[in-house]
Amino acid sequence: MSDSPPMVRARGLTKLYRVGTEMVHALDHLDLEVPRGEFLAVLGTSGSGKSTLLHMLGALDHPTSGEVWLDSTNLAGLRDRELSRIRRTRIGFIFQTFNLIPTLTSLENVTIPLLPVTRNRAPLRERGRRLLENVGLGDRLHHRPSQLSGGQRQRVAIARALIHQPALVLADEPTGNLDTRTGGEILSLIHRLNREQGTTIIVVSHNPQVAQRADRAIHLRDGQIVRQERP
Ligand code: ADP
Ligand code: MG
Repeated sequence: MSDSPPMVRARGLTKLYRVGTEMVHALDHLDLEVPRGEFLAVLGTSGSGKSTLLHMLGALDHPTSGEVWLDSTNLAGLRDRELSRIRRTRIGFIFQTFNLIPTLTSLENVTIPLLPVTRNRAPLRERGRRLLENVGLGDRLHHRPSQLSGGQRQRVAIARALIHQPALVLADEPTGNLDTRTGGEILSLIHRLNREQGTTIIVVSHNPQVAQRADRAIHLRDGQIVRQERP
């Protein structure tokens, strides 16, 4: 075993939202460690804090208190610019609603995150093409999102999330807008990514299939981990 730090470590993670005069404890002193290479499922009913947790771990928002470490970096000490650099270089995001740019083709959607920092575009396009082939879309490179099925759109989004070879992939209800069978295929793809590349993956879901494939499932309630299991 190596003594490198875990991929993710959260300590006393707390997020309070103020709604009118009420304070909502979206996360309540949550502790979590995610070892490198783990496939972690985050389960819980709507409003239990799953998305908030993903936002904090993904450096998309600041916690009210507590700490998040990614690898050996403490996010608490970083300015927005540095957080944005971490998101751009080390984390891949997959969303329920795909978040593709409708006017761009599959290949353009996949490569666009790296365009601003790429001088020589041919190798980037080649890499985008290979990623799309890898998710089964080698024959859909020049289609726009409106010309693709939901499952195909999510495959494009997965390829986009991988364009910068992130060590950590965060997925928020990635199968939430897909039928059961298509959702199962998307999960297989994410699972394969974990097994073949060793990418650390955290998937938020209601879908029991996710928990079955994960190395570990944690259950959230009121912003706390109330249970965990290893399927
Ligand atoms: P989940 O993803 O498990 O459905 P969320 O993390 O989205 O849950 O939300 C957790 C709690 O925090 C909920 O009670 C929700 O209403 C509240 N919440 C989430 N985001 C905000 C926000 N931006 N402003 C106010 N309350 C929020
Ligand atoms: Mg959510």
